[in-house]
Amino acid sequence: MPTHATVCPFCRGLNSAGERRCYRCGRPLPGPLASGVIGFFQNTFTGDAAITRIFLGLCLLVFALCIISDHRLPLYSDQFSMSTTLRFGALLGSLGTAEPWRYVAAVFVHYNAVHLVC
Ligand SMILES: [Zn+2]
Repeated sequence: MPTHATVCPFCRGLNSAGERRCYRCGRPLPGPLASGVIGFFQNTFTGDAAITRIFLGLCLLVFALCIISDHRLPLYSDQFSMSTTLRFGALLGSLGTAEPWRYVAAVFVHYNAVHLVC
C-alpha cells in the first residue's frame, strides 16, 4: 500500500496515500517498481518524437553491446573491432546481398563515440 500520494500510471490521476485503486480510472495502483517500469515505457513510446527516441535508444543499446563485446570504449581515433561491428549488423562489401537485414541493422551500429554523437 503506497504511503504517499501516487500518480496513476494509466490516467495520470493523483491519488491520496493509502489508495489501492485509482479514484479516476478504477484500476489497481501498482507498487513503486511497477510504476517506474510502466512510466518508462509510457514516456518512451508515447508523446513527442517517440520514434526518434526509440531510434536513439536502439543506437545507444547497440553501442553499449559493442562496448561490452569489445571490452573497451573507442572515442574518436579508434574503433570497435570489425568482428564486433559485424556481429551487431554492420554492412561491409557485398554482405548485404546475402544478409539483407544488414541494410536496416547497420543504421544502429556506430564505430566509436564520435561516430555515435555526430
Ligand atoms: Zn487512473
